[in-house]
Amino acid sequence: MAQEVLTDRLLRSWLRCKRRAWLDRHGDASQRLWTAHRALALSDQLAAFQTLLPEKPGRGEPACAAGAPGVVGLRLAGSGPAGLTLQAHPPLLERVAGISVWGDHAYRPVLGRQGRNLTREHRLVLALWGRLLAERQGAPVPEALVVAGSGRGLQRERLKLTGGLQAQLEEALPRLATDLGRPQPPPLVADRKKCVLCSWRGLCDREAAREGHLSEVSGIGGKRREMLLDLGITSLEQLAAADPRQLAEALAVHGEQHRDSAAALVAQARVQAAGRPERLQPETPAAANPLPELAQAPGVLLLDIESDPDARDDFLHGFVAVPRLGDGTWPRLGDAPWRYQPLLALQHHGEARLWRRLSRVLARYPDWPLLHYGETESIALVRLAQRQGADAQEIARLRSRLLDVHARLRRHWRLPVNSYGLKAVASWIGFRWSQPGVDGARCLLWWRQWRRDGGRARLQRIFTYNRDDNLATWTVARWLLDQGPGG
Ligand code: SF4
Repeated sequence: MAQEVLTDRLLRSWLRCKRRAWLDRHGDASQRLWTAHRALALSDQLAAFQTLLPEKPGRGEPACAAGAPGVVGLRLAGSGPAGLTLQAHPPLLERVAGISVWGDHAYRPVLGRQGRNLTREHRLVLALWGRLLAERQGAPVPEALVVAGSGRGLQRERLKLTGGLQAQLEEALPRLATDLGRPQPPPLVADRKKCVLCSWRGLCDREAAREGHLSEVSGIGGKRREMLLDLGITSLEQLAAADPRQLAEALAVHGEQHRDSAAALVAQARVQAAGRPERLQPETPAAANPLPELAQAPGVLLLDIESDPDARDDFLHGFVAVPRLGDGTWPRLGDAPWRYQPLLALQHHGEARLWRRLSRVLARYPDWPLLHYGETESIALVRLAQRQGADAQEIARLRSRLLDVHARLRRHWRLPVNSYGLKAVASWIGFRWSQPGVDGARCLLWWRQWRRDGGRARLQRIFTYNRDDNLATWTVARWLLDQGPGG
């Protein structure tokens, strides 16, 4: 067993993914990618802490000795089971009643929670902080405080650190040490959805592609992968070679939906293995065209919404107007000046004003279909119209204009991509975002920073990202048009 130091960060990584902790310790740091999620989590935590303790906190041991209400920067160390050396750096300590080496007061650790619920990761990391803090202050730490939100929306939750939680920690730490001592990294995590939040995703994506990991097949999550592994299918190539009927029968024990999905999974694996797209058979000849609404349209409006999901705030509705060219054809990227119109929706301006502005844009292009990628935009727009009292006729008209390019693509084509998200599909076609490496989380971070500190450049980056998403949507629509009669 490795006797190196175990930190709270390693424990947290390990609880998310064993491979991640191993890479944190042994991986090539230059392979790490910056991730906006961590920056978002830290800025949320800071907002919660500032609401909890508005005064500037003290720093380190002198602040503890002086009895500061809040303390940051105290590094803790101690020993764990089997002689393991432990270190931790809680982001905030809050003064509580008690007697400690620092006098007539003691401290408890505080954590800013991400997400709606406390997870095992939160609990065990808090248990580690509590254990080391108790050693340092010479007084027990029976509970921790967990906060989320900010301002009047601050939520507080107390977590007992004694009993079962310490037993779980005792059991987890030696296993963490053993995993860190392995000569090779542990395998990729079973459910790779969580990889989008991880700084090692670039390295692991390449590894998944190299080994033909089953998670590379679009439509296979952690649960389906387990089922396929049980059947002896361990890679994309093996799935591509499987007999769909036999697989359907074998998966039927897990439920009808898995039986029904077998043929599509094998077909998807085959398309990915071959690297060639496949046109799906239309149900009727009349249904062969994926975008019939464009046949007579004078132009299309592209729409992409940026949201802050925690605040339930659709803060930006970005439009691009794409008129049909004089010769009746549709433009390609680079053919035409693209008129981008961002509508920024500040919550304090109210929804009624947003709806009036949106209605004006929609009315300026009355017969133009409204293209978007995924169902988010249509759901958000129709709900907004309903809340604003649009009548049944208006709603029906709005619905008839909305055209989900993602849904049309899925109905008509199977592509050699590991995801049908806009980034993967448009990139496969050849579209390049003008700000490389930017994703929705980074855009959200810019938005929150802009709201706090302003800055024209930040807003411009958000607009550029949003405009690019619209152009990527057009790239996919254009690709469908380019596939000849029947799209
Ligand atoms: S990218 Fe995924 S598999 Fe790789 S270390 Fe991170 S969470 Fe684990």
